[in-house]
Amino acid sequence: MIAMMTMAVALSGAWQIPLPIVEETNTHVVAGTATTPADDPLTRPIAASRAAEWLAPAPPEKIFGTSYLVGFGGLSVALIDTGDGLVLVDGALPQAAPAILANVRALGFDPKDIKYILSTEPHYDHGGGLAALARDSGATVVASARGAEGLRAGAMAADDPQLAYGGTWPGVDRLRVVKDGEVLALGKIAITARATPGHTMGSMSWSWPACEGKICKQIVFASSLNPVTADGYRYTSAAGAPFVAGFEKSYRKMNALKCDILISAHPDNAGEGRYNAKPGACRAYAERSRGLLAKRLADERAGNAK
Ligand SMILES: [Zn+2]
Repeated sequence: MIAMMTMAVALSGAWQIPLPIVEETNTHVVAGTATTPADDPLTRPIAASRAAEWLAPAPPEKIFGTSYLVGFGGLSVALIDTGDGLVLVDGALPQAAPAILANVRALGFDPKDIKYILSTEPHYDHGGGLAALARDSGATVVASARGAEGLRAGAMAADDPQLAYGGTWPGVDRLRVVKDGEVLALGKIAITARATPGHTMGSMSWSWPACEGKICKQIVFASSLNPVTADGYRYTSAAGAPFVAGFEKSYRKMNALKCDILISAHPDNAGEGRYNAKPGACRAYAERSRGLLAKRLADERAGNAK
């Protein structure tokens, strides 16, 4: 009986543990365990298999003008000083919030001056720290309508290609919804929301000018465009069609954007270093995703997809 059960399990593929090689899977996520003396539910670590790599410490760094990086070796978090308040982009994992705020302070800023935190997508690796960051700074989190739904719930949407991985994160209660093309003006900087669906239907990229004297560069903080799914998901199914169409829309958008400096939500998706200031960085970013999606679709059609 045991042998038969073993055989049945083996045939069903249940032995196969998903490999944590693709970005942003919830594979190996376990319930948060408190390691700090004062248990803070909003910064309880999510033990993702790639958390240590994503959160590799990195010093805060100026990009151009009054725009900075305050995140990590494997996850981007940006800080913009608008002259009349600060704006953060993305929040990494829950346990990352104290280090992000420490980086903000190390640059000489007060986290209480953070007015907005812009979100690229409702997943735990970019949105997990938003609740703690919003609480500690008093800032409002800004996202697309679909993004805000996920961030409020602290969970993936019912149509998310990675839904089967499961996992939740601290939900955000102070949210502002913006539409594609909407401009968020604060101080001397206007930040434009750029809907870039595909990885999730609520994914949003953000662009703004960074100036030094008369020289201005357009910075694009791009949401993840990685076509990564839980096993068994099919982009070639009816449920997958809006995602494929979303990716196509996002590629066109990334190709058309003025983009002098690309910050990718996962920096390793944008080439070497923490950001990419080479000409055509946003187009190359879109091309990388287009190639991955084409391969995935071909694998699905050939019956080779997991
Ligand atoms: Zn993601």
